[in-house]
Parts: sequence; C-alpha cells; structure tokens
Amino acid sequence: MAETWNSAVRQKSRELHGDTWHVEFDDSITPDNTAPGWFHYISGSFAGFTCSLCKRYWASKRVQVIFHFSLNSASSLGTIKVRLFKQECKSCDEAHMEDPNFPAENIDVLVERLVGKIRMRCYKEDLGSSNRASKFYDKIEGPHESSHCEACRIGICSQGK
Ligand SMILES: [Zn+2]
Ligand SMILES: [Zn+2]
Repeated sequence: MAETWNSAVRQKSRELHGDTWHVEFDDSITPDNTAPGWFHYISGSFAGFTCSLCKRYWASKRVQVIFHFSLNSASSLGTIKVRLFKQECKSCDEAHMEDPNFPAENIDVLVERLVGKIRMRCYKEDLGSSNRASKFYDKIEGPHESSHCEACRIGICSQGK
C-alpha cells in the first residue's frame, strides 16, 4: 500500500526539485499535532472498505486523509507522513477498524494536490491560481455511517453531521 503512494510521489520528482521524498504511514498524526518544521494538509476522496470478518464491501464518498510533511534541505530528503482514516463494518458486532482502499487514480490526485502544497510550503513557490488540480474519481451517493467512521469520532470528517 505504501508502495502505491511512494510511486505516485516519485512520478512528481521533477516538480519536487529532484529531491527524494518518502511516504510513511502514521496513525498518530492529527490536524493539531504538527511538529516544529512540519506542515500539514488534509484532503480526502472516495474509497472502498472490506470487512475482514464478513467480507462485506462498502464505499464512502469522502474518506479523510491527513498528511504531515517536512523537507530536510541539507540532505535533500523529504518525509511525508500519511494517515488514512478507517471505518468499521456496521453489520458485525466485533467489527475491526478497516483501512480504506483508494482507487489508484485517486491516489494520483491526492498526491498531485499534496505536491502543490509542498511546493508552496517547502520550496516557497508561488503557484497562484494556475494550480487547478485534477478531479477525483467518485461514483457513489449514499448515507454515511458516522458511528462507524474514525474521522467522525475525532470530529474532522467532512461527511459527518
Ligand atoms: Zn462485517
Ligand atoms: Zn465520517
């Protein structure tokens, strides 16, 4: 899973000034706990989930993603921490929080938008309004199960009411 994100970031290497940026997952990051020298960006898109107990599949129109990113300019190494918000099956009593599966094309769009933020924050580029990113692939409408959504529980879900 991290490999999909890393390869999407590698494809943006030229926009990232040839520096090496590395993606790692970190379930401890929140919008509020950005470390000194780090920046954050919150986004999200359509993703699917599969219950590891009953194998039920469901989809969610917008699954939150938090990024924390930092560039060490001395070594030309950048780090991107990613937290994907989980959901649990509404049919299983002992349901586990499951990781979302983002379509590859949405990972590309999330990374494209993130790279825009990195260029502005870490490379001080002025991208103006020309930086209009691609649209997400998004195929569902439907109720959102807030009580089974991790992002809703910490109050940052864009679907939860
Ligand atoms: Zn289930
Ligand atoms: Zn939610």
